[in-house]
Order: sequence, then structure tokens, then C-alpha cells
Amino acid sequence: MSDQTKPRIGVYVCHCGMNIAPKVNVEDVAAHAGTLAHVVVARDYKFMCSNPGQDMIINDIKSLGLNRVVVASCSPRMHEKTFRNAVKSAGLNPYYFQMANVREQVSWVTHDSMDATEKAKALTAAAVSRVFFHQPLSTREVPVIKSMLVVGGGIAGMQSALTCANAGYQVYLVEREPSIGGHMAKFDKTFPTLDCAACIMTPKMVDVLQHPNITLHTYSEVEKVEGFIGNFQVTVKKKPRYVDMEKCTGCGTCMEKCPSKKISSEFNEGLSFRTAIFTPFPQAVPNVPVIDAVNCIVLGKNKKCGACAKFCETKAIDFEQKPEFLTLDVGAIIAATGFQAVNPTHLEPYGYGRFPEVYTSLEFERLNNATGPTSGKMVMKNGQIPERVAIVHCVGSRDVRHKKYCSRVCCMYSMKFAHLLREKTGAEVWEFYIDVRSPGKLYEEFYNRVQEEGVRFVRGRVAEITDMTDDPNDKGRLTVVAESTLTRRTVRLPVDMVILSVGLEPAPGAEDLGRLLGVSRDGDGWFTELHAKLAPVSTPMNGIFLAGCCQGPKDIPDTVAQAMGAAGEAIALLSRGMVTTQAEISHIDPDLCIGCKSCIGACAYSAIGFDEARRVAVVNEALCKGCGSCAATCPSSSASVDHFTDRQIMGELERLV
Ligand SMILES: Cc1cc2nc3c(=O)[nH]c(=O)nc-3n(C[C@H](O)[C@H](O)[C@H](O)COP(=O)(O)OP(=O)(O)OC[C@H]3O[C@@H](n4cnc5c(N)ncnc54)[C@H](O)[C@@H]3O)c2cc1C
Repeated sequence: MSDQTKPRIGVYVCHCGMNIAPKVNVEDVAAHAGTLAHVVVARDYKFMCSNPGQDMIINDIKSLGLNRVVVASCSPRMHEKTFRNAVKSAGLNPYYFQMANVREQVSWVTHDSMDATEKAKALTAAAVSRVFFHQPLSTREVPVIKSMLVVGGGIAGMQSALTCANAGYQVYLVEREPSIGGHMAKFDKTFPTLDCAACIMTPKMVDVLQHPNITLHTYSEVEKVEGFIGNFQVTVKKKPRYVDMEKCTGCGTCMEKCPSKKISSEFNEGLSFRTAIFTPFPQAVPNVPVIDAVNCIVLGKNKKCGACAKFCETKAIDFEQKPEFLTLDVGAIIAATGFQAVNPTHLEPYGYGRFPEVYTSLEFERLNNATGPTSGKMVMKNGQIPERVAIVHCVGSRDVRHKKYCSRVCCMYSMKFAHLLREKTGAEVWEFYIDVRSPGKLYEEFYNRVQEEGVRFVRGRVAEITDMTDDPNDKGRLTVVAESTLTRRTVRLPVDMVILSVGLEPAPGAEDLGRLLGVSRDGDGWFTELHAKLAPVSTPMNGIFLAGCCQGPKDIPDTVAQAMGAAGEAIALLSRGMVTTQAEISHIDPDLCIGCKSCIGACAYSAIGFDEARRVAVVNEALCKGCGSCAATCPSSSASVDHFTDRQIMGELERLV
């Protein structure tokens, strides 16, 4: 190292308000850092990430000729980018920077103040040691494809697609069901304002269909995702509808003529039947039926029928249709795949599946819906109108044996049900709850309103629902058994109907989609955001964003807000026009490579190819994410990752041990 490039290191220790300084003696850490080799200046400051904090670094680089910087503060995930930008703005290569995490790894977790200070000194010294070996790295600018993909056509996906399309970008919306709409399409009224779900939903669905910038692919799924931020290639599989979308007029004659009429309707939660050729609901978008191949006499049973084809005036039925595969080139992807409701069959004490008058919340939504199986009349399966109803909260949620988290919408939709039942039937309604959670705008007011309407609230988890009754007059009714934690008495309540307020869990297939997108999931299976506060709609995969319940349970207002946030991030990316590629990528030294290909199998991003002529592995720099799997696997040490070289890591470790 020549004299000119001799390291001149500046060290900056952050108090982080009351986060680091009360536990770590930051002045002591700075003083210790000042004694280390090549350290020219060491300072401490209240908030290094603030404007004055960053200015302090920038001024020192300029006035003291610093050529390397260490900041001892929070996690790199939080502020590495902030400090790299500060270093860059002072004219230094941003990779001449290293962070020591003395907050998450020290002050937040170490009890004793002296121990914490010693640990902070050691980590800061290790960072100084490492930055000594840093090399300048450069990035490349590549153009962004100005179109995007939205996966999932519920309210979140539709809102994201419309926002992006209105900003002038081409959007491909891929929905796996025959129609867009998601769960909200099943609701009649929505809490807390009780406004008509269809009046919000159906015009939006039509807007999506008719928008000149949106290409809708229903009954389709993502099969493969390749590429990187700004340049993704996505393979989409369009399942055969067996109905030509161009020719179909949506007249419905095929459904009238179909002889297979006794198939349980998924949209009506099994409370009515559909035919083998069907549209899930009358307002479906697109209003083109699909043939359910399993239940179709021709396709599933290989027998003669063809009634639909015979009566179709436009000759739209096509039994020969095959799956189609499309390749979409997009610059950004928004995942909006929503949730599924917990199936309570396995929660045996609640008797779902055993007692016909125990309903799930989604079943109740369909019973209440004007387009549902009872045209919105509260008629139970036994033909009666309930006089007393129990609503059981937290079914499958807030329970360590099932889902430990709160599903956030169940308290509110339970109260919506109570209001609707009171309004439509005058029935006595009892809510069995653990705690009522109503933290949204106008939510607490809605809670007060249903109490004023005479809805009773019992604080206690339901232990059992049985068909045994104490009083012969209650024969044929169900009994809800619960322990009231307020009165410390066992409640045994005879009822006509029970509604189970089931929790929310990730949509089926979320795991597979997560794998295709490279987006990780949390312990409960929801897609993980990059940072809950700083990047709540981004993911660790650059260029892939999250909208709605696929990231965690939420109500419609939060879903729509998040969908717009995700759209905003995607628009910001596309409108920049260029993206900067990652600097921390792998390299394979062709002189050392033995051509064993073990790195190719280890690479999760398909970023390594093989040069047959030279018999060596080659990294595709555009695809490489710098994860280091190749370097860890390579038996000949020919693979290495920039910014994570052996010298840099060993420099850090040697100081620590
Ligand atoms: C019983 C009940 C009542 C509710 N009532 C209210 C209410 O009154 N007010 C309120 O604010 N909130 C209510 N909610 C919450 C509301 O349902 C959600 O906030 C909202 O539906 C979330 O929308 P989403 O688009 O994120 O998910 P979803 O509605 O689940 O939509 C996701 C879409 O993605 C599609 N999809 C899934 N996986 C894939 C894939 N791999 N590829 C392609 N497409 C895929 C699905 O088919 C679906 O169309 C209620 C929830 C329940 C369970």
C-alpha cells in the first residue's frame, strides 16, 4: 500500500438517543477507537444518522483526508445505505465504509454496562480492522423495463394495478381463479361504515378489465421468474378454460343446459351448487365461464354430452384447449396473493362439520349476501330463521396450539355480523371474545354502537359446542359452553346458530410463489417485508413489492393503503428508468476453477453458467446477488465475493478472537 493510499480511518460512535448511550459508554468506545492503528479521528454524537451527524463525517473526510470510515451504531439493514451515501457525497468510494452494530448486538441485548462497553469496543475495533482491507467497488446502470406484474387480483392487486396503470405503465395482472375480486367479492357489507362491498368492488373490477394499460390474465399462475430488478422475465401458465374468450358473449345458456348441476359452489362456500361449466358469480370479471374438467361429463368422464357446445350460438366451447405459456418482461413485481380463512374442521370442540348450524364467517358472509344462496335472507340450513346466535371470536387465532397471532379483522367482522343479525332477524346475539380489538378509525364507535343495539358480550374462550341441552324446551338447539372470565362462572347458552370467527392464514401456494420470487416468509408463513418501518412494502428481493394480506392479516382500508404504497414504490422504480446493479457480487477465477460445477448447484439465483470451451464456471453479474453460496461450496477456492473476501472477514475475526 503506497503512502497516498495509506488508510486514514475515521470512527463515529452513535448514542442513538436513549438506545445505545445509557448502556454503552460511547465516549469510552470513541476514545478506545482513537488509539487504534490508522485511526485519524474518533468521535461520538447523539444521532449519527441525522443531518449534523452525516455532515460531521462528510466534513472530516474533506478536511482530514479520511479515506475509510467506520460508524458504530445500529444494524446495517437500518442505515448502511444512509452512511454509504454520506461517504459517497464526500467524494469517497462508498465501499470504503464499515458499520459496527452496537445497538441490536450490544446495548439491546447485553445487561451489564461494563460488558456492553467492552463488547462495543471490540466490535468497533473489528470494523476498523476490516475496513483496512476494503476495496473500491463500482456498480453499473442498466435500463428498466417499463411494465410490471401484479400477482393476485383481490382488492390489493386490483388497486395496485389501477394505480400503476393510471400512472401510464403497462400492467399484467395474473389471477389464478376464473375471476378477479378475491375475498371482498364475497361480502355484502363492510365494517365499520357498513357500505356496500359490491358498489366499491364491481366498478373497480370493470375498470381493471377495461383499462387500456392493464392486461388481465385470469385462471393463470406464475410458473417461473428469472432476471433481476428492472429486468424480470416471468413465465405465466394460462390454464385451459375450454371456452374461447373472444367468442363468448357471457349469455349463460351453456350453464342452463349443463346436466352436471350438483357440484358444490366454492364461491358460496359450499352452501349452494353450481354446474360443471360455470362463472363463479354473476358479476365475475371476465364474465366468461370455465369448464371444471374434473366434473365435466366430456372432459372428466370421457363420455358423450357436449350440451354446452350444442347450444352455444357463438361456438365458443373448445374441449381441445390446452394450457398456454406466456413470457412477460417486467421491471417490477407486486405480490398481492392475500389469505385464506382457517378451516375449523380440526378444532373439534367447536363441532364444525358435525353440527350443520355451526357456520364459518365466510359462510355467514354468503348467507347474508343479496347474491348468495338465500338471496341475503338469514335462513339456516334447516330452513329456520335463528332466534339466538353465538359468535365465537379467535377461532384458530391467538392460540399457541394453532395460530398464535391476532388475525386483526375477526373482532370487527364479528360485530358486523351481530349488527346484521339484529337488523335482519331481531335475533339475540352473544359474542364470546378474549379481548375486543377495535383500533381502526371509527372502529371503537362501531363497537359501542353494537353494544347499544343490545348485542351481549361474554369475555371467555368457548370450551365446547354440543348438541346436549339441559332444558327439554331447547331440544334441537346447540349449547355453547364457555367460562366467563369476568363473572368467573361457566356459561351454558342454548342457541340456534353458531358463527365461528375464523382467523386468517397465508393463501395456499404462498410457499411456492415465495420460492419463485425469492421472497422469504415469516414463521407464520406471511411474506416478509424488507423493514417494518423503513420499507414496509419492499422485500429483500429488489424490485419485488408486497400489497395486502399476503404480508399479514389486515382490513380493507389498510390493504388499499398498502396496495397504493406498493404501487408507488414500483412506479418510482420504473420512472427512474435505470437501476444500479449490486456491487457485492461473486467472481470465479478461471485459473483456479477445476470445472466441478458444484457452485452451479449451490446458486439459488441461477446466476452461474458453464463455459464448455474453457471448462470453467462463469458468473452472470446481472443475476448474482452476492450471497456467497458459491464461495462456500467451491473446493478449489476459485469463487469469491467482492466485499466479503477472505482477507476482509479474517481481518475482522482476528481482531475479535
Ligand atoms: C369473513 C371476513 C369478513 C371480512 N369483512 C371485512 C370488512 O367488513 N371490512 C374490512 O375492512 N375487511 C374485512 N375483511 C378483511 C378483507 O377480506 C381483507 O382485508 C381483503 O380481502 C384483503 O385483500 P387482498 O387482496 O389482500 O386478499 P384476497 O382478498 O385474499 O385476494 C387475493 C387474491 O389473490 C389470488 N391469488 C392467491 N394466490 C395466487 C397465486 N399464487 N397466483 C395468482 N393469484 C393468486 C386469490 O385468488 C385472490 O383473488 C374480512 C375478512 C373476512 C375473512
